[in-house]
Amino acid sequence: MIDGDPRNVIAAKRDGLAVDPEELRAFVLGYARGEVADQQAAAFVMAAYLNGLDDAETLTLTRAMVDSGETLPLERISRPKVDKHSTGGVADGVTLVFAPLAACLGLAVAKLSGRGLGHTGGTLDKLESIPGLRTDLEPAAFERQVEEIGCAVAGQTADLVPADGALYALRDATATVASIPLIAASVMSKKLAVGSDLILLDVKTGSGAFMKTLEDANALAQACAALARDWGRSTRVAVTDMSQPLGDAIGNALDIVEAVEVLRGRMRGRLRDAAVMFAGEGLSRLTGIGMGEGRAAAASALDDGRALEAFRAMVAAQGGDPRVVDDAESVLPRAPVRLPILAEAAGTLAIVDAEALGRASGDLGAARGRKADPIDPAVGIVFRPKIGDAIEAGQVLGEVHARTEDEAEGAAASVRSALTLVEGEVEPPPLVYDWQGQMRP
Ligand code: URA
Repeated sequence: MIDGDPRNVIAAKRDGLAVDPEELRAFVLGYARGEVADQQAAAFVMAAYLNGLDDAETLTLTRAMVDSGETLPLERISRPKVDKHSTGGVADGVTLVFAPLAACLGLAVAKLSGRGLGHTGGTLDKLESIPGLRTDLEPAAFERQVEEIGCAVAGQTADLVPADGALYALRDATATVASIPLIAASVMSKKLAVGSDLILLDVKTGSGAFMKTLEDANALAQACAALARDWGRSTRVAVTDMSQPLGDAIGNALDIVEAVEVLRGRMRGRLRDAAVMFAGEGLSRLTGIGMGEGRAAAASALDDGRALEAFRAMVAAQGGDPRVVDDAESVLPRAPVRLPILAEAAGTLAIVDAEALGRASGDLGAARGRKADPIDPAVGIVFRPKIGDAIEAGQVLGEVHARTEDEAEGAAASVRSALTLVEGEVEPPPLVYDWQGQMRP
């Protein structure tokens, strides 16, 4: 049984009073064990949503969530350990590039990932489009792979932070997801449960992100950085632009094709820049070399093929077909219909509704509406222009990969209506707005 009456915690939060830390901890642990009722936890998250949580309460909640299950200390890993997490965006395949890139630079990336919900697939969905590749790695095998190859990407097991699993589902059902302290506790509990030396967070802002405004994204970044500081862990949090898709590919197998092109050093642009920036940040913070030197090392590892070889090793170790590295398009599933997206008019690309592009890809089958839904790895959208680019009428903007002609036509129309073209020049948005966070002293 739980210590104390759960109603004390709910009433204190409802009335805007300080919540007793011991009672809050018992409440969260009790909920994870099934001893606090769903309706009581729902009342608490709604009170927290309305009245907020202060830094101390957010830390208590986070600690209790971590303590509700197993942790992964990664004590057997001898390399400096870096974790990277994005709050999610459209065409955000950075992790696919970052993990092998950081690995070939001598760092260890033990990445536990979730499946995509909402308008895009997640990293696991993308990787699983490689025939044979498994992401259900046992903890011992996961750690061994990280030690030997430098990186592994696996699904988070139900034993890790179970209180977050239960509370997140409850928040989803009670319209209480969009609370900055609750999101910070949820995101950071899953990062703090894994023993990395540095947590790199990418908080996205803009039309394709969870946080639509820069103000909210900054507040979330601050809340996450404060939690890591109070916990005693090193973190660096970037607030980055998601007012347009980061890369070009919005799907699953299509993202693998794109990641391979970046890893081969062939594809330039914002996806490569973001991967180089995070790998450079990790290398510099963990080894003490300068930031410029870190980024230069990351860029050369993409250009000279080392990052691609690390990706090949990761894919092979997880049972995937390593030929994906040599000829991704022939190894990966392909959609039967491939339709070019043509521009209707000329102008400069000024606004992209990135979420609408994500939704259009999701409607083709590239994302799941509910957790148990299957996804179609082959379908999706490739959209190449970026804000500030001049577009000609009739220009090919990309392609739709679909199951049927009708679905392809529908998606191409959705892409066209998600774009605003203007006359004259448009300043492209920056890749990064701000960095926050600190290294542990
Ligand atoms: N992602 C998470 O992991 N948790 C949240 O609360 C929101 C996004």
